[in-house]
Amino acid sequence: MTARELGVRLNRKEISAVEVTSAFLNRIQQLDDKLKAFVTVIGNEALSQAKAVDDRRSNGETLGLLAGVPIAVKDNMCTRGVPTTCSSRILEQFIPPYDATVVSRLRDQNMVILGKTNLDEFAMGSSTENSAFFTTRNPWDMDRVPGGSSGGSAAAVAAGLAPLALGSDTGGSIRQPAALCGVAGLKPTYGLVSRYGLVAFASSLDQIGPFAIDVLDTALVLDAIAGHDPMDATSSEQSYNPVFPQLQAQGEIKGIRIGIPKEFYAQGVEAEVSDLVRRGIEALCSVGAEAEDCSLPTAEYGLATYYIIAPAEASSNLARYDGVKYGLRSKAANGHIGMTEKTREEGFGAEVKQRIMIGSYALSAGYYDAYYKRAQQVRSLFCRDFDRLFQKYDVLITPTTPSPAFRIGEKADDPLQMKLSDVCTLPCNMAGLPGLSIPCGFIDGLPVGMQILGKRFDELTVLRVARAYELATGLAAKRPLLDGGR
Ligand code: GLN
Repeated sequence: MTARELGVRLNRKEISAVEVTSAFLNRIQQLDDKLKAFVTVIGNEALSQAKAVDDRRSNGETLGLLAGVPIAVKDNMCTRGVPTTCSSRILEQFIPPYDATVVSRLRDQNMVILGKTNLDEFAMGSSTENSAFFTTRNPWDMDRVPGGSSGGSAAAVAAGLAPLALGSDTGGSIRQPAALCGVAGLKPTYGLVSRYGLVAFASSLDQIGPFAIDVLDTALVLDAIAGHDPMDATSSEQSYNPVFPQLQAQGEIKGIRIGIPKEFYAQGVEAEVSDLVRRGIEALCSVGAEAEDCSLPTAEYGLATYYIIAPAEASSNLARYDGVKYGLRSKAANGHIGMTEKTREEGFGAEVKQRIMIGSYALSAGYYDAYYKRAQQVRSLFCRDFDRLFQKYDVLITPTTPSPAFRIGEKADDPLQMKLSDVCTLPCNMAGLPGLSIPCGFIDGLPVGMQILGKRFDELTVLRVARAYELATGLAAKRPLLDGGR
């Protein structure tokens, strides 16, 4: 059942929020031992939130469509009184005294938070294998990764442990796991959703967005979390026009112009994946869209540019974990400096340490011009290239990932292969564009994602195209059969 169907039933009092919440908590209890999507489940709190919603409804209050609907939150968004670990030892004991803006907005909608989902440590990775705690499984095949870094959120929605979830995306961390788990995942335009209370990885690229089983549910959550926030200096002041009502009103995509940037169908993308995406584009053309090949020449520099900028920002952001302000404090004999060193040595995993070192190197006095400044210059070329394409096209469509879900361990020792799983998703973050991944078919029983990129702040067109695709193909909401006991 979609979240909006749940919402309608809750509103009509055909079911209670306590019943809905218990059903999801039961499913978590049944399946999450194996799936490992959650780092923390807050069953009691969820049930009392649900009870409060039921009480208000029985007192005759009319609440919104999402009131009483459960949601899971990636464990790098602050939740007041509830551990927020970033799947890192260094924050294992950290309990934030405040809610991230997105979390308070979910609470404003009277949504029920089920718990916090697993991620690659500090959102650095593409498989959740970098979590300091455990690797989340892909519900379509338990021996495979769910993608990352928001793998816990994607797996939870795909497996029906939560009808909705929030993730964060710095270089693909919403879209890539959405693709590998066969759900919808949206990275909104940079600045549309507040980052206040999102633990920072690379602040100029990070954005929070929803996972859902279809496009309309994705839109509903976006409407709940989007819009200006004075607590985030990079939050857009543009007034936000909710997309859900507009999407319901206009299904038509006649005359929409689709660009097919050829570089996204190279760089190691499997032929079967490209074929499925091209078939998806044909389906859109059969309902009135017009598609054409085009080129984004800078795409080949995406990986190199991203892996300078993101670590550079991370090295600065992660300097705050010094054993004084937050979380872990290791004991050392040799005073304050020794304590900080030991805390960081024990608290950070290998991937995080590597990125801090790469980032510090790229920012160091002797190399700043050669690496960081250069990368920033290439970044502006990305923006220019995309601007040029968007003068001609309304959306660009590409594969989300080069291949379906890979096996756990398969790429863990091959950092380049691991990083290449984000070639198609990174460019969008560089230019701050909205990007959505939706399921577009299967290869050997594993889901494949199609990525739709749009103009900045034009989430509506991206979602309209995606919705038209779902309607034309019936390809939403296919779920893995987990209860069969795999
Ligand atoms: N996989 C990419 C990385 O490791 C992107 C991660 C993300 O978007 N948070 O940096």
